[in-house]
Amino acid sequence: MPPIPGSGLAKGLAVTLRTMTKRSHTAQYPDVQPELPPRSRGVIGLFEENCTVCMLCARECPDWCIYIDSHKETVPAAAPGGRERSRNVLDRFAIDFSLCMYCGICIEVCPFDALFWSPEFEYAETDILELTHERDKLREWMWTVPAPPALDPAAEEPKEVAAARKAVEKAEAAAAAAAAAAAAAAAEPTTTEPADGPAADSTPEADA
Ligand code: SF4
Ligand code: SF4
Repeated sequence: MPPIPGSGLAKGLAVTLRTMTKRSHTAQYPDVQPELPPRSRGVIGLFEENCTVCMLCARECPDWCIYIDSHKETVPAAAPGGRERSRNVLDRFAIDFSLCMYCGICIEVCPFDALFWSPEFEYAETDILELTHERDKLREWMWTVPAPPALDPAAEEPKEVAAARKAVEKAEAAAAAAAAAAAAAAAEPTTTEPADGPAADSTPEADA
């Protein structure tokens, strides 16, 4: 069927009218901060206490924009006769955000939960070299990471939480048992001898 003359114009005007009557979505940034979804990919925060310098994130980063330096330290044996151990100590952790493509691979592959997305996005620079951010800055961003959503009440208890709960219960039971034993010992009657020794007439020698 041939199109009705002017139908295209009518459709266009209908779209225009519909759009005109809708509320505008323009955000008055920077006067008004945008309401971002809590899991926005703004920047990457580093929780360096969790980082073991395994280098997995740097190796998997498709842009090679994670720079990590470390050195080894010897940790003395925990018990006499034990073996000394060596551990990696982080010297430098930096991300070049001029190269980063916000794919999130580094966060996904980190086996120790040391990297997180923060919704912080106000870190524009006029010099591209300034977009390489070092560990102190990455650590500051860590505190802007939103808390994880609450657990589903019907979900299975995470094994880490179960292990921690069992350890606390065991410690509480041991403390209660120790307190009960101490109370029982305190309640037992004690026999004490008189200060000047046995009575004079209580022994045959004394009578003689
Ligand atoms: S988000 Fe992707 S590109 Fe950016 S540092 Fe992580 S792995 Fe590299
Ligand atoms: S993957 Fe995680 S633990 Fe390993 S070096 Fe990267 S941030 Fe550190």
